[in-house]
Parts: sequence; structure tokens; C-alpha cells
Amino acid sequence: MADFDAIVVGAGCAGSVAAYELAKVGKSVLLVERGNYAGAKNMTGGRIYSHSLKKVFPHFEEEAPLERRIVRERISLLAPDGNTTIDFSSDEMLKEGQDSYSVLRGPFDQWLASKAEEAGAEAVYGIAVDSLLKDASGKVTGVSAAGDEITANAVLLCDGVNSLLTADAVGFERPAPHTMAVGIKQVIKLPASVITDRILAASDKDGAAWLFAGDATHGHIGGGFMYTNCDSISLGLVATISDLMSNAETPIYQMLEDFKRHPAVAPLIKGGEVVEHSGHMVPEGGLNMMPELVGEGVLLAGESAMMCVNLGYQVRGMDYAVAAGQLAGIAAAQALDAGDTSKAGLAGYVQALEESFVLKDLRQFSRFPHFMESTKRIFNEYPALARDVMNRMFICDGSPVPPMRKSMMPMIKEVGIMNVIKDARGGLKAL
Ligand SMILES: Cc1cc2nc3c(=O)[nH]c(=O)nc-3n(C[C@H](O)[C@H](O)[C@H](O)COP(=O)(O)OP(=O)(O)OC[C@H]3O[C@@H](n4cnc5c(N)ncnc54)[C@H](O)[C@@H]3O)c2cc1C
Repeated sequence: MADFDAIVVGAGCAGSVAAYELAKVGKSVLLVERGNYAGAKNMTGGRIYSHSLKKVFPHFEEEAPLERRIVRERISLLAPDGNTTIDFSSDEMLKEGQDSYSVLRGPFDQWLASKAEEAGAEAVYGIAVDSLLKDASGKVTGVSAAGDEITANAVLLCDGVNSLLTADAVGFERPAPHTMAVGIKQVIKLPASVITDRILAASDKDGAAWLFAGDATHGHIGGGFMYTNCDSISLGLVATISDLMSNAETPIYQMLEDFKRHPAVAPLIKGGEVVEHSGHMVPEGGLNMMPELVGEGVLLAGESAMMCVNLGYQVRGMDYAVAAGQLAGIAAAQALDAGDTSKAGLAGYVQALEESFVLKDLRQFSRFPHFMESTKRIFNEYPALARDVMNRMFICDGSPVPPMRKSMMPMIKEVGIMNVIKDARGGLKAL
């Protein structure tokens, strides 16, 4: 008899939710996390869209350590000497199930893991799973961790983007550098009221999400992000690894320092103290880099299965991880009840994902990574064009004003009218 019904590897968004779902229906579950506590090694920008969390914990707003509700969206095209920003807010984005919150993974992941433990899951921290155990037929039968062999009827790999176990589980090859980005982030402490004033919010509970393209990454593929927490600001960059390796003269940590000095950003963080610095990989290849989601005795949820989307104006991974964790937990429990945790017995998970927004979204955005990679103008020429157009509109120096068409056309011609049309069409097709 196996030691546990299920072993869940990784106590991030996917793992803790999967463990919770299994424990809730009475399965014996071991949740193994290599960090000294849940959230110790996890990173996000970060804002979580609430819809999938609500399906697992209908009253999460009352107990989860949320930072601020996002009431304001900003997106900026940054030129070195200019900034064109769209500032958006609406009642729609505040409606239940459409709302989103800034979170810090330390407290947030500890809360998620505590829900799994309260439901009956056994959690161990500070121990990494080194390898998978398999029987003679190749079916996964447990894990080896810290010299111990622990068996289970099902193993759920929720061990994130840099999983060292998926290759053995489902034969997944390491992703290519052009499908992976690196993210770095600082948490900058400031008084709550200062943050509220600086983002023009009505109360200390209201927050902003702000994404930047262009000079944030020195014109390289990627962008900057800023999320307001209760009494800190999360500020960082995401940049594609292959582009950084082959084209960038500036290392990403220096890009972050330059980003912090940009006139669009510096006033926001002025007087703040950096209290946390982190780095992490981001899977950007989407559906095209997704491994098989189930194997014999094993299934994958969250970023171990590359469930993440970076659209430039939106970064999502946590709501996919929560939803996939829930579906994985439910499917594993059903397979355990049926006494069949073979690949065929676990196939209900893939079916459930196919019917959910997770695989539908990843399929929908599967062309976007290629669009970003092949449209570098987004990161240099368009921010400069936006700056020039705005200069033309807003600067009056006493010289006669030429007709708008006459002054705008040379600017657009510099980028190329056909390029603008092609990129707009390409972007619409990829979204
Ligand atoms: C810079 C950046 C910005 C982002 N911004 C956002 C955002 O604003 N909104 C959003 O929704 N998403 C964002 N994401 C993506 C999001 O953070 C991830 O998609 C999400 O955290 C994935 O959750 P997960 O549970 O799959 O993996 P993770 O949260 O990475 O959890 C995996 C866990 O497994 C553990 N682990 C790994 N290997 C082992 C092992 N061998 N043994 C035991 N434990 C192990 C790890 O320690 C970790 O705790 C961002 C990501 C980055 C890097």
C-alpha cells in the first residue's frame, strides 16, 4: 500500500490548491515544498485575477492577505525622453469575478498552503523532491526527497517553470531561450498614504497596475511593471532571454536601475526603501512549449506545464495556476476513487482543462509570442513615434503651426506606413 493517496510537489498557487482539493474530499496528501515556507521561493509581478480563486474559496476576500484592489490600469510607451500613457479605470473591472488584487507571494502563498493544511494535507517545507520513483512499467509511484522514498498512487507536479522533474515524468525537453524570459523585481517600501496619493487613488485599499514597453528594457523585447501593495510598490522588468543574450549591451539589473531613474517612474518610488529583490524565469512560449499534461501516475499543473501568458498589457499565470491546480486535484481524486491513476485514468484532467478558460486562452494567444518576437518596433520605434506625435500636439513655441497631416506624415513615414499597418493587423490577429 502506498504511503499517501497523492503527493503534490511545490506549494505555489497550483500546488496548494491541488492539495486542498484532494484533502477536502478525504484523500491523504503530502505537499512537499523546497522553500523553508510557502512563498519563500515564489515570485510574481504581481496581480491576481480573482475569478479562479473565487471558485476555490468563495469568500477569499475576507481572509486572504490581499494587498490592494486594482482600480486603475496604466500602460505606457516609454521613450528615453518621453512617456505616453493610457490611464484606464472602469466600474466593470471592479465587479465580482472581474476584479483583481495585488499580492505579495510570501504572505499569499502561506495563506494558500494553510488552507490545504487545514483541509488535512500534510505539508513539509525546506525539502526538495530530487527525483521520481517509478515501477517496472514506468508508472510514477512516488518521489525521492532528502534520501527518503515516499510512495503515492498519484503524483502532481506543481513545481513551477524551472521543473527538474517534468523531463522524467512526461519526457519534456528543456525550453529554448527564445521561449523563456527572465523577470526581476524589487519591493520598495513607502507609507500607504504616499502610495495612494501618488497613484491618485481614493483610498489606501485601492491600487494600480502599470505596464511599460520601450525604454524600460532599453528597447528590447519585454517590459516593465509596477503594482501597488498596501505599503510598498512592486517594480520590475521582464525580458526575453535570447534577446538579452544576443543583443543587449546592458545587463538586466542595470536596466532596472535605469528604469527606476526614468522620469515616469522616479517620482513614484522617491524616498522608498528597497526591502526585497528577486529574480525568476517566465515561460513566454505559451501553448507551443507546453509538455504533455498527464503521464502514467503523474500530472502537471501551473507553470510546470508552462501555463502563463504575457501580452505586454497583461501578465497572467496565477489565475491559470489556481484553476489548473483545482482541476488537477479534482481529477486526481476521481482517478483515485476509480482505482486507476494510469495516464488513461487521469485523462479527465486534460478534458477538464480543454473545457476551461486555461487551455482556451493559451490556444487563443498561441501566436502572440511570435508576434512579439518579430515586432521589435513595439519596443523602440513606437514609443518614439508616440512621443513625437504628442510633442507635435502639445508644444507651442510661437512659431506658425503646420497642418497636422504635414507634420505627422514624416514621423509615420520614418517607421513606415506599411509597417504600422502590418503590425496593427499582426497584433489583432495574434490577440
Ligand atoms: C516577474 C514576474 C511577473 C509576473 N507577474 C504576474 C502577474 O502580475 N500576474 C500573474 O497572474 N502572474 C504573474 N506572473 C506569473 C506567475 O507568478 C506564475 O505563473 C505563478 O506563480 C505560477 O504558479 P505555480 O504554482 O505554477 O508555480 P510557482 O509559484 O513557481 O510554485 C512552484 C513551487 O514549487 C516549488 N518547487 C520547485 N521545485 C521543487 C522541488 N523539486 N521540490 C519541492 N518543491 C519544489 C517552488 O519552490 C515553488 O514554491 C509573473 C511571473 C514573474 C516571474
